[in-house]
Amino acid sequence: MTYSERVLRELEERYANEPEFIEAADRVLGTLQPALDAHPEYERAAILERLVEPERVVIFRVPWVDEAGAVQVNRGYRVEFNSAIGPYKGGLRLHPSVNLSILKFLGFEQTFKNSLTTLPMGGGKGGSDFDPKGKSDREVMAFCQSFMCELYRHIGPNTDIPAGDIGVGAREIGYLFGQYKRLRNEWSGVLTGKGLSFGGSLARTEATGYGAVYFLSHMMAERGEKLAGKTLALSGSGNVAIYAAQKASELGGRVVTVSDSSGYVFDPEGIDVALLKDVKEVRRARLSEYVAARPSAVYHEGERPWAEACDVAMPCATQNELLLDDARALVRNGCSYVVEGANMPTAPEAIDYLIDEGVSFAPGKAANAGGVAVSGLEMSQNAGHLSWTFDEVDEKLEDIMADIYASASAAAKTYGHEGNLVFGANIAGFLKVADAMMAQGV
Ligand code: GLU
Repeated sequence: MTYSERVLRELEERYANEPEFIEAADRVLGTLQPALDAHPEYERAAILERLVEPERVVIFRVPWVDEAGAVQVNRGYRVEFNSAIGPYKGGLRLHPSVNLSILKFLGFEQTFKNSLTTLPMGGGKGGSDFDPKGKSDREVMAFCQSFMCELYRHIGPNTDIPAGDIGVGAREIGYLFGQYKRLRNEWSGVLTGKGLSFGGSLARTEATGYGAVYFLSHMMAERGEKLAGKTLALSGSGNVAIYAAQKASELGGRVVTVSDSSGYVFDPEGIDVALLKDVKEVRRARLSEYVAARPSAVYHEGERPWAEACDVAMPCATQNELLLDDARALVRNGCSYVVEGANMPTAPEAIDYLIDEGVSFAPGKAANAGGVAVSGLEMSQNAGHLSWTFDEVDEKLEDIMADIYASASAAAKTYGHEGNLVFGANIAGFLKVADAMMAQGV
């Protein structure tokens, strides 16, 4: 049994009740053996055993009062996974599905993603099972204030810097920031994704989606292709999908689908990004309002977009949303690129199938790292009391995505899996963290 297999088996026994975390660990550890063979000292230093155990987990009660005057109680979490290369960094997710297993999977992934960005950020993740859907602004504020009443003890601009994830956008970050400032009597860059009037970075909102499309352009260049004239199927209609659609359209691509939890929109004339932004960001409405205002669009209730013909598929919604049958449909209909905008959206069997069929596949920890990368740039601007222009940040984002692509492809080649960005991203992300852990002792 190899070192990584042994650690994985121990992990499966210890955390049998955390399936998402086990899955994430399995997917990463299963690709690290070539790097572990080259570094036998890692086993002696128990690097993997230490890497799969979060440095700290905080779980707390979040009581708040709803519009009817009733007291509600949610569970709050912050998983501080690894601080070897920098302070813990990663988003907060507000969704009824949130539990420790999901946050450990996300914090574990974040550690490698942040390492790939080239910036000094460790990995963390947090959130709550609070469901912001259907809540009033006042209820969201009450929840965020109560959540921060406990979280503020554990975070800080040099300790742990949360940001957004599913269910946490500019509104929630604003309420969380206001409460932190009130409790600490201190203005600091403790959260990223802040509003532009109080220390936020230009291009942070766009960063994840834009970054994923920049990454796609590098994959296409490798095959001598360009985005112009290509058809893209996207899932999701949140921050990642909206700005991936915007950048892809700007570069001449035709984005024909977006989705929400009830189904997907097919728009053969290409998604109207201005309308999509108005529906989702301004009106906070369902996609049915997009379809009502757009004669070319059709809504497919209860279905995912992967049966539509496309050259590029970008799952930008959530984990495990593209399964083996979807991958088969994509290949059958001529898709040659799959780029993960979300975290772990593609099932492992689907990834193996796509790669075997010659589809270029980009894992989320590389392709969607643009969001946290610009969070890192927001931290630099806050620390230096500066604000850079949109173009300055966007150029840095493009450079970072180019570096991530280059280091993932180089690691894939060096460790015997040329062209396989899953191996490349895992190994490149891992080596930097492992090196820092070795240097810092036990
Ligand atoms: N939630 C995002 C991610 O999955 C961004 C995290 C951040 O900006 O800290 O990478």
